[in-house]
Amino acid sequence: MIRIEDLWKSFGRHDALRGISMHVTEGSAYALIGANGAGKTTTMKILMNIMEPTRGCATVLGVDSRRISPRELSQIGYVSENQELPERLTVDEYFAYLRPFYARWDRDLEALLRGQLRLPGGRKIGALSHGMRTKMTLACALPFRPRLLVLDEPFSGLDPLVRDEFMDGILGQAGETTILISTHELGEIEGVATHVAFIEEGRLLFDEPMDDLRARFRAVRITFEKPARLPAMLPDDWLRVSTDGNVLEFIDSRFKDGDSQERLQSQLSGIRRIDVEPVALRTVFTSLARAVRDRAA
Ligand code: ATP
Repeated sequence: MIRIEDLWKSFGRHDALRGISMHVTEGSAYALIGANGAGKTTTMKILMNIMEPTRGCATVLGVDSRRISPRELSQIGYVSENQELPERLTVDEYFAYLRPFYARWDRDLEALLRGQLRLPGGRKIGALSHGMRTKMTLACALPFRPRLLVLDEPFSGLDPLVRDEFMDGILGQAGETTILISTHELGEIEGVATHVAFIEEGRLLFDEPMDDLRARFRAVRITFEKPARLPAMLPDDWLRVSTDGNVLEFIDSRFKDGDSQERLQSQLSGIRRIDVEPVALRTVFTSLARAVRDRAA
C-alpha cells in the first residue's frame, strides 16, 4: 500500500528526512512515532503529494506519490491538524459536496459517525471550534471506506471519548483499510496498531511488529544482597537506569525471557532476586524518546 525508498527531504540546509525506507503492507496499521520535529508530518505530506521529496521516492497504492491522481485520492482518507476546510459551507453542505466524489460513500456510516461526533449540521465550518474541526475531518475520512487512511496526529485536542469512538469506527473497517497514523501517545493506538515505526531526526530508528516491540520491552528490578552499584559499562539496551539501596532498576529494550535473566546472573554478582514486568506502551515511547535525547546531548 505504501513503499518508501531512501526518502530525503531538505528545507534549505536542514535535512528533515535522511533516507527513510519502509513498507506498509495491505491490512496493517502502522504507527509512526517520534519526537516533535522528527519528520512524521513531512513523510505524510510527501505521501499525499503536498510536498515533493528531495531524493528517493514513495509509492502509494502502487503510484509514485508525485503522480497521485484523483483516482488514488478517492481511495485515501487523509486527516491532519489544521487541514484546510471550506469555511463558508455548513457541515451539512460540506458532506453533500463530498459525497459525489466517492463511489463507495456509505450514507449509513456517515450518519453513524456524525451522530457519534455530534457535529452541528447547520453550523458554518468557519464557526467550528478547533476540536470540532478535527472531528469534522475525521468524520469525512471514513464514510467512503478508504483503502488507505493516512492520519497525522488525528487526535490532538480531542477528548478521549471521541478518540475511542473514532478508533472503534476504524476497527469496524479493520481488514479493509490499511492505516498509517502518526502519534506521540502510543497508548492512543493500543489495540489498533499492528506495526510501529520510530523516527528520530529524519531517520528510521526501527520498524517492527507491535507484538515484537511489546515483547522486547520489560521493566527489570534487580535486588542485590548489598547496596547496588551500576555496572562499569551500561549496556546500550538498558534504558532509564537507576539505583536505590540494594535495588537496580532499568527498562530492558532487548528482553528475551529466560536468556536475559541468565545473562544478568552471569554478569552481575550478589543478586538476590530479579523481577520482570511488562511496561505500558506509553513507557516504551517515553523511554525511547529520553534515550534518544540523552544520546544527542
Ligand atoms: P511534530 O510531532 O512536532 O508534528 P513532526 O515529526 O511531524 O513533528 P515535521 O513537521 O515533519 O516533524 O518536521 C521535521 C523537520 O522539518 C522539523 O525540523 C521542521 O522544523 C522542519 N520543517 C518542516 N516543514 C518545514 C518547512 N516547510 N520549512 C522549513 N522546515 C520545515
